[in-house]
Amino acid sequence: MTAPARTKTSVPPQSSGSPTIWIDGEWCERGSATVSVYDHGFLYGDGVFEGIRVYGGRIFRLEEHLDRLYDSAKAVWLNIPMDKEELAGVTREAVSRSGIAEAYIRHIVTRGVGDLGLDPRKCPKPSVIIIVDTIKLWPEQMYETGLNVITAGTPIPQRESLSPRVKSLNYLAHILAKVEGINAGADEVLMLDSAGSVAEGSGQNVFVVKKGRIRTPPAHAGILKGVTRDAVIELAADAGYPVEQTILNRYDLYTADEAFFTGTASEIVGIRQLDGRVIGTGKPGPVTRDLRSRFHALVRS
Ligand code: PMP
Repeated sequence: MTAPARTKTSVPPQSSGSPTIWIDGEWCERGSATVSVYDHGFLYGDGVFEGIRVYGGRIFRLEEHLDRLYDSAKAVWLNIPMDKEELAGVTREAVSRSGIAEAYIRHIVTRGVGDLGLDPRKCPKPSVIIIVDTIKLWPEQMYETGLNVITAGTPIPQRESLSPRVKSLNYLAHILAKVEGINAGADEVLMLDSAGSVAEGSGQNVFVVKKGRIRTPPAHAGILKGVTRDAVIELAADAGYPVEQTILNRYDLYTADEAFFTGTASEIVGIRQLDGRVIGTGKPGPVTRDLRSRFHALVRS
């Protein structure tokens, strides 16, 4: 069966919101957006990606996300075959064509099409894909109640094997951790590094609040350096909360007044319980709620 033909770049922007996909210079619709089974992103997870939010038609921190995408690619010897400004331009066009004001953008850069061997030299050209669609991780009510979280037995990948700073297409460790949480009936998981220190959620960074002080693991602790995390650190500092980036243990979460996750898709979401220990009052606390409303103001500003 042949893949449905893709539409060329001359297609006029859509007026009503619908998913819009760009693959190596061609605009596609969801049903016709296909990649080769010989693409090494598909065969081996050989590639990198980004996730970005659009609020009211405006892209939140595009530059920071693209910086991270190009750094991730560089770290795995992947040359993105277009420069950042060009990719930013196509990204903006994709958002405007989609007509989705509250969107989620996914950038994917794969090693490209090769043969069945690992050797990336067999892949002459990396593939660049942009998807503009919507995303919703948690129902609104979860932001009121906070999440029930367990610690996953699966640690984050060893830093010297594949740096967690690289947002790579290898998410299996995080997916296994997520499934552990699902099997246990939890809303989300906390992942540790192989030494047992607190790292991150399955797709979020983690913060604790104790006596008005905010703490989060440092970027070098083996986490993805979240764009939302960085925005929250700035907002917290502006609001006068002392913020410290330091190694955390689960004890620090069990005994915190508040704990919360941050991420592009989930924004800021409180943790009400970890491994059966109720955190603080058992619902998102005042600092979490304050930062959440400051974050909402920031993304709409
Ligand atoms: N850690 C992991 C493993 C993630 O996948 C994400 C989501 N990108 C984050 C943290 C949060 O990063 P950001 O705030 O940039 O979305």
